[in-house]
Amino acid sequence: MPTENAKLLIVDDTAPIRALFSAILTQSGYTVRLAEDGFSALAAIRNQVPDLILSDLYMPGMSGFELLSVVRRRFPSIPAIAMSGAFSGDSVPPGVAADAFYEKGSAISYLLDMLEALIRPERMPAIEHSSASAPIWIAKNGHDPAGEPYVMIACPECLRAFPQSLKEDARAIHETDCIFCRATIHYAIVQSADSAPPLGGRHPTAGRFSAPSGLEASHSPCAV
Ligand SMILES: [Zn+2]
Repeated sequence: MPTENAKLLIVDDTAPIRALFSAILTQSGYTVRLAEDGFSALAAIRNQVPDLILSDLYMPGMSGFELLSVVRRRFPSIPAIAMSGAFSGDSVPPGVAADAFYEKGSAISYLLDMLEALIRPERMPAIEHSSASAPIWIAKNGHDPAGEPYVMIACPECLRAFPQSLKEDARAIHETDCIFCRATIHYAIVQSADSAPPLGGRHPTAGRFSAPSGLEASHSPCAV
């Protein structure tokens, strides 16, 4: 049996998938909330911090890559499961800030086992994440009406998002202050590079992400 009333936040841009997981996991004894992308997930987390996050990776708006990097930064003790049909196997895709990976379409019993293992209270203190000081991931959004490139930055402290114009060196680690809470945010731009080496992705529409340089360094000079 799952932990009494453990609170799950399920993030997926596809309504039928949200409905399916909601039905299965509610029936399995979890309290389920749903979000359709990273931004609405952050809004849900502002209302109430969940016991576990299950997030799709490729979503329009704010992707799971970005969402999970923000969550790991702000709430390092919340276990996270990434899910996608774009990666196969059971290992977490490189650079994704999650504790486990669920390949969409594989047996739901795998997912239920993962949930139980990650939410079990005696396991919680054992989960320690050293990446809390890593920069968050931000995907390039495009250009504002004046033609300037910009990104949407989700603040790991207050979980609000704001636009930021982008200077030329897109691969460096940047620093800015949140316009809402003034927290200092370190972020790295995630390239949706067509030239990136294949990650086994087979998603029909989304660009592939490659880890920004320095993101995986354990002792980043830019870490706070
Ligand atoms: Zn903030």
